[in-house]
Amino acid sequence: MNDILPDASPVWQYLEAQVRAVLDQYGYREIRMPVVEPTALFKRGVGEHTDIVEKEMYTFEDRGGDSLTLRPEGTAGCVRAAMQHGLLHNQVQRLWYAGPMFRYERPQKGRYRQFHQIGAETFGMASADIDAELIVLTARLLSNLGLSEHVTLHLNTLGSSEARAEYRNALVAYLEGVADQLDEDSKKRLHTNPLRILDSKSDTTQQLLNDAPVFDDFLDAESREHFQQLCALLDGAGVSYVINPRLVRGLDYYSRTVFEWITDSLGAQGTVCGGGRYDGLVPQLGGKETPAAGFALGVERLILLLETLEKIPSSVFATLDAYFILAGDSATREGFKLAERLRSEIPGLRLQLNCGGGSFKSQMKKADKSGAPLALILGDDEVAQQQLTIKPLRDDREQVQCGFDAATSQLRTLLAG
Ligand code: ATP
Ligand code: MG
Repeated sequence: MNDILPDASPVWQYLEAQVRAVLDQYGYREIRMPVVEPTALFKRGVGEHTDIVEKEMYTFEDRGGDSLTLRPEGTAGCVRAAMQHGLLHNQVQRLWYAGPMFRYERPQKGRYRQFHQIGAETFGMASADIDAELIVLTARLLSNLGLSEHVTLHLNTLGSSEARAEYRNALVAYLEGVADQLDEDSKKRLHTNPLRILDSKSDTTQQLLNDAPVFDDFLDAESREHFQQLCALLDGAGVSYVINPRLVRGLDYYSRTVFEWITDSLGAQGTVCGGGRYDGLVPQLGGKETPAAGFALGVERLILLLETLEKIPSSVFATLDAYFILAGDSATREGFKLAERLRSEIPGLRLQLNCGGGSFKSQMKKADKSGAPLALILGDDEVAQQQLTIKPLRDDREQVQCGFDAATSQLRTLLAG
């Protein structure tokens, strides 16, 4: 679990603002859920035989004896909240959330025990247009971030639950014949979660799968058509994709569409965003039949990618406009007042006052270190004349002197470039 320190938080704020702006463009509304839920919600929602439930949850008993779990993902809680507050009855919803998720995983690059996701969930829309919307939204975001050339969209359909069940049987029958050659994880999954074997990381297992039955032979006609409609919408929108028949997702609730945005710039932890359709989840959690689809993106991985590819605009780190140097007692008093006046008169001005005194030289050093493009300088002598000096620190423009009453307009002019 990581601390996000002040030097790093501008990047988080930049990414969050970018995601928010795109979600706003598509009319998604924010929902905020608690970070703990009853353990049973994840067992039923995410699935008993998923990695998450089997070995990754932070589960504890509270003082009342109830079993609670720190949320390992956002979808189950979002569905719970939407059901509980009647958001699903006869209506369509486009929701988003952001926040920490918790999984007891082996920590490594791109994999942490507290990590952050921004997710979107939609309810009440069964047709492929909403699947396509979720994907073009994520494509737009990745493009805005300058990442388009470094990510690939992998797309698959998991069909109906009936088609999946039939395929599952055929796959298990085939894999039982070669069970002794499977990797250890896949052996375990053979009778609990055999579809997950399809995206096994083991080369031998992937080899064995070359002769396995293929899902396409089992895909139901309606799901096939749904998938074709999705592909047609993406083609029309100019979003390219790779159809990857071995893409299954780690969570049990998916049906029909699944997708992942994958990068090869981060090593093994290459999935920066994943999502799909989960029509079965609401009824599984006790609600009425409700079509649903969504995605979640991993904030840490996107930040790693932005950093690795040097895609973070330098303006992101500029957190101050000006640093105010005050030399002397009366300068401190008058400067304090003037700073307040400037903050009131220039909305959004990011002005840091030198507090705690210090020599002119040491204050100048702090101004330099602050990253601010301008220093405001006031000494006791200038106070008498009501004169402020504004000194550009990052370019070779001349410093200017002005009366207190002209400080607002001078500062505006210098900030404008
Ligand atoms: P993976 O196969 O990489 O473990 P997943 O299928 O478990 O991913 P999801 O539950 O779909 O992941 O979560 C969506 C996204 O959240 C992932 O694509 C990834 O970017 C991010 N993510 C998942 N687990 C972690 C983690 N432990 N640390 C950091 N980011 C994570
Ligand atoms: Mg995982």
